Amino acid sequence: MAFLRKEMATKRVKKLPSFIVMDILEEANRLEKEGVEVIHLEIGEPDFDTPDFVKEAAISAIRQNITHYTDTQGLTELRDSISEYFLIKYGVSVKPQNIIVTLGTSPALFMALSGLIEKGDEVIITDPGYACYKNVIEFVGGVPVTIPVYDDEGYAIDTERLKKSITKRTKAIIINSPANPTGSVLSKENLKEIAVLTEKHGITVISDEIYHGLNYEGKDHSFLEFNEKCIVINGFSKLFAMTGWRLGYIIIPDELLQPLKRVHQNLFICAAGFTQVAAVKALKEGEEFVQEVVAEYKRRRDYLVPELRRIGFDIKTFPKGAFYVMAGIKNFQLDSLSFSKLLLRKAGVAVTPGIDFGANGEGYVRFSFANSIENLKRAVQKIENFLNEGGTK
Ligand code: PMP
Repeated sequence: MAFLRKEMATKRVKKLPSFIVMDILEEANRLEKEGVEVIHLEIGEPDFDTPDFVKEAAISAIRQNITHYTDTQGLTELRDSISEYFLIKYGVSVKPQNIIVTLGTSPALFMALSGLIEKGDEVIITDPGYACYKNVIEFVGGVPVTIPVYDDEGYAIDTERLKKSITKRTKAIIINSPANPTGSVLSKENLKEIAVLTEKHGITVISDEIYHGLNYEGKDHSFLEFNEKCIVINGFSKLFAMTGWRLGYIIIPDELLQPLKRVHQNLFICAAGFTQVAAVKALKEGEEFVQEVVAEYKRRRDYLVPELRRIGFDIKTFPKGAFYVMAGIKNFQLDSLSFSKLLLRKAGVAVTPGIDFGANGEGYVRFSFANSIENLKRAVQKIENFLNEGGTK
């Protein structure tokens, strides 16, 4: 008897794209297995280790058996610390009951979108922008609508363009400052304009503040300073070099709190207790560590960007935050994926093709300066040799 063969995977999961940079990573791994040295400037995570005092706090918490489920919203102590941090850093008052501690910023993004988006609702994002935004919007049934941001405009969000992209179906906008992949920081004025416009149209702002603290020029502004009804997502991955710990949080207005709490209960139950104890330490005692790493990232940026310009990359916006720079490759007559592949094969330097971040990222590659200054120097030398040898011709 013939059985009906049913497709196992849904259209939804089949449609979910992987990052194009994975191609580069695969190729890098292959080369490394062959014994070729690769300098990794494609990776979006701190090269620093989690500071010892944070690790010790987690170890001690495990010894004290803080290994059980916690409240789904997270430990009161951590939510109190986050609330205190927002008051000190931004002067905004966040009630601990409006915070849910999550397993990183990624689940917080998923929760925000799953709470806001009905099928067909539109969500505005920038192009270029963080690749996951578009994918998660589509995953929850929404429609991503992109607005371009440009190198020669400092990657600011132009409010005229934003206005034009708003329709009756626009439900939310995701902003990300300091930004991945551009390293740009939206000015206070730009944030205010976005707040006025979105409020007028009843659009919810999801502010991804994961790179806050990694700001080399000025002061960060939480979007909560401009609209208390926005959703903030953030985490411990970047600022405290805790990517593998999987810890973040979402700050939600009252209206969405109970539904999102239920999403969190059903999908995740809670974040690990001992990581939460360690995060309290990071928030309360992490200032010195943060200052050191910020100074080091700044040093690397100040070295790398002028050097890339010198060897032929076109960079109009000097990055002000995060640890990325988008470098224009128009002088090299190749698309971003071909350029990245060739650079890896011929020079042993891995970068992320700009197309990974949207159509408007084409013509650029993203360099991450979350790597030592020695490696950056060696990478520049290798790229320069490659270009001098007519590598892309
Ligand atoms: N948002 C942005 C803009 C990111 O670059 C990243 C990580 N690359 C995340 C969110 C997710 O971070 P995590 O889940 O580690 O907190």
